[in-house]
Amino acid sequence: MKPDQKELSSKSVSLNGSSFPKISVVIPMYNEEDNISRLFDRLFPVLEDLEESWEVICINDGSTDRTLDILLSEYKKRRGLVIVNLARNFGQHAAVMAGFSLAQGQWIITMDVDLQNPPEEVPKIISQFRKGHDLVNTIRKGRRDTLFRKLASSITNRIIARISGIQLRDFGCMLRGYSREVVKGILKNPEYRTFIPALATFFAKNPVEIQVQHEDRAAGHSKYSLLKLLSLQLDLMTGFSMWPLRILFLVGSLMALAGLLAALVIIVLRLYYGPDWAAQGVFTLFAALFFLVGCQFFALGLIGEYIGRIFQAVRKRPSFIVDGVIRGVPNEVP
Ligand code: UDP
Ligand code: MG
Repeated sequence: MKPDQKELSSKSVSLNGSSFPKISVVIPMYNEEDNISRLFDRLFPVLEDLEESWEVICINDGSTDRTLDILLSEYKKRRGLVIVNLARNFGQHAAVMAGFSLAQGQWIITMDVDLQNPPEEVPKIISQFRKGHDLVNTIRKGRRDTLFRKLASSITNRIIARISGIQLRDFGCMLRGYSREVVKGILKNPEYRTFIPALATFFAKNPVEIQVQHEDRAAGHSKYSLLKLLSLQLDLMTGFSMWPLRILFLVGSLMALAGLLAALVIIVLRLYYGPDWAAQGVFTLFAALFFLVGCQFFALGLIGEYIGRIFQAVRKRPSFIVDGVIRGVPNEVP
């Protein structure tokens, strides 16, 4: 371990000043050596103009380039910087969760380091908090990504909004604001993999959705391969909906019913037209087969339903959130 890195392990959670900041900016970073200073040069002036106290929590998500070294040198120059170093690459959402667990602000803002989320949009989010919203979701205006990404997003956004019941127009933008309460709710979920914007919406009482600008990546390339993107979408789908399992059950039930009807029709026709019509028993065999295959699908769907329920229980997500309690004076025992 280099001397600088030794310093990091003792100071990693130290906060600038003694009191808690009002705003925490959480930024996950994976191999982003060329973007960090560029982002800071734009982000810090914006924060300084806010007239609120703040901290910037940077999570190094197991980078193999100079990301950590650059963060350590920035740490010496900038006030309010917190560096979190993860043991290996855990993925963007896990890195954000690590940032959440250390954030001390009342208003917590997540953003990417690649400048696709312009730091100049941060005051817009703050003004929504000031209006009393506890979650500020965002829609990317003029999104600067490949046509494939944009098309894939617009399809998955719609599918996921429908099957999860979470009404968000843009699940993918990570320039978002969360109140401390919402973050506390998110942190209570000991899930192995999750999708933060959807989970945040589950905990929010007064969310709002605003438009923010989107820019080209300043340097480097996207850290999402096609496979990683797919896995993220699966996290979102399986984490927030049992519909895929339900569809299995539905198809199973329909197949069983169709199998039963086909079997009945064949048996009736066999009795009416005699064994020659039924090709000496072959059709009857088919009838039995239809029925059995249908039953199998039905059973598979039923098992799926149970697995879904076990999955929900294992996730330990709270099944309700108490907003507050008003308690009257108890009745006196006569
Ligand atoms: N990121 C991360 N860990 C990962 C992948 C990405 O911390 O395993 C960070 C990355 O450094 C960036 C943000 O997550 O700050 C978004 O990543 P990227 O720009 O590659 O995603 P895209 O904009 O292509 O969706
Ligand atoms: Mg990006």
